[in-house]
Amino acid sequence: MSIADDFLPVAGPSITDREVAYAADAARNAWYQNHNAFNARFEALFAETVGAKHAVSLPHCTAAIHLALAARGIGPGDEVIVPDVTWIASVAPVSYVGATPVFVDSLKETWCIDPDAVVAAITDKTRAIIAVDLYGSMADWQRLRAIADAHDLFLLEDSAEALGSTYAGQQAGSLGDIGVFSFHGSKTVATGEGGMLVTSDDALHARVMTLRDHGRPPGDRFFLNTEVAFKYKMSAVQAALGLGQMERFDELIAQKRQIFAWYRDRLANLQGVALNTEPAGTSNSYWMVTIVPDADYGLDKFAIMEGLKARGIDSRPFFTPLSTLPAYAERPESARFLPSDPVGHEIARVGVNLPSGYHMDEAKVNRVAAALEEILRR
Ligand SMILES: *Cc1c(COP(=O)(O)O)cnc(C)c1O
Repeated sequence: MSIADDFLPVAGPSITDREVAYAADAARNAWYQNHNAFNARFEALFAETVGAKHAVSLPHCTAAIHLALAARGIGPGDEVIVPDVTWIASVAPVSYVGATPVFVDSLKETWCIDPDAVVAAITDKTRAIIAVDLYGSMADWQRLRAIADAHDLFLLEDSAEALGSTYAGQQAGSLGDIGVFSFHGSKTVATGEGGMLVTSDDALHARVMTLRDHGRPPGDRFFLNTEVAFKYKMSAVQAALGLGQMERFDELIAQKRQIFAWYRDRLANLQGVALNTEPAGTSNSYWMVTIVPDADYGLDKFAIMEGLKARGIDSRPFFTPLSTLPAYAERPESARFLPSDPVGHEIARVGVNLPSGYHMDEAKVNRVAAALEEILRR
């Protein structure tokens, strides 16, 4: 099975014989006393790579966010400050626990949550901030940490798109009280579906371990559930894939950075088209190479996507502001801190994610760039 040469997908993983062999090994052997062996190895390598004390493998990142909020006891009546422009999975779990998402604006350069907007949105009901390292860019963690500490807020780092990015020498996912990752097939490390929660806080970790297993404290052999909770586990075959992927971590991150470098060099002549940034003190693992063209091109993201599709190239729209989606239409109170003309809305109106999967080589990048030059001809 191979990808048709004439249509270029937007995302996809790099799977080698290593991952295939581990998955087969798990299918055969990860039973009986070995049922957790691949999960344990995957978690240990992941925690070490990210620089966190604990890592918990989960069925998806959405579960990780849900568990993080539940572990911190966030619930009805509480407000959680979130970026308006992100994937809905960053925010949907706020509703799962019965709390209220409060949408705030993003910064123009990094596309991540604006710390000033966070401060302006704090009320006496605020309990947590969810900051997202969007498309591989790092949020302003120094300021977010100071704000969270000053107001005694839980700081959740959604690093689903930023595995391998760094901030002041620290890996993405290690900057929040809890960090969360996704291994969906489109992500930097893929297990098909899958997620990871990392933390260096022993108490939060213990709480997560109980909540993810139907209220069974770790080590419980008698099935005496202490509370009604959730069932969130990753299968051994997925963990085997993830272990193989993490053993190739440096290679995978280098490849993502190479794909971005090809685009950056090839698109350098297009005036007024911003790409993912890499501010001083950070490094970007460029999950999705993303263009944000100036408004005076007169094209929105859907028009650009149509132009690419007509040339056999798949792409994705920049995340649409959550406060404008039907999903949140009946929660107008949550948009009360957004300015009338949010920075994030303009970025989200024109931004497009370009093909960035591991199938990309220099020739394919050239093909996408040539198509963009035609589409964006003024
Ligand atoms: C992919 C993604 C998620 C959700 O991951 P799942 O594994 O699909 O649950 C959460 N947040 C962001 C920012 C993502 O990109």
